[in-house]
Amino acid sequence: MRRQDITRAKRTGSTVELGSSLRERLQTVSSICTNCDLCEKECAFLRDRGKPKEIADRYDPTRKEDQGMAFECSLCGLCTAVCPAGIDAA
Ligand code: SF4
Ligand code: SF4
Repeated sequence: MRRQDITRAKRTGSTVELGSSLRERLQTVSSICTNCDLCEKECAFLRDRGKPKEIADRYDPTRKEDQGMAFECSLCGLCTAVCPAGIDAA
């Protein structure tokens, strides 16, 4: 998930709407990621938060914990480098 996608999520009262690009990215990751765990082995953030598909499936923009999640990723790109599906989880 990209930081700018999270930033794009709009608050409207007590509801947080996902920007379409973030929603599309979550759906893409969820449909392509096979939970193979190659990226998780390389990344402390993913070991703590779960595999990209797990994160995408449970992401809830109304939860404070999820809103700050993107800022825990260092954007190092290692997950994409090892992913057989070429998923950019950052
Ligand atoms: S970019 Fe780096 S820190 Fe972020 S999820 Fe991928 S491997 Fe982990
Ligand atoms: S390496 Fe790719 S396919 Fe495997 S768990 Fe990570 S994101 Fe999913």
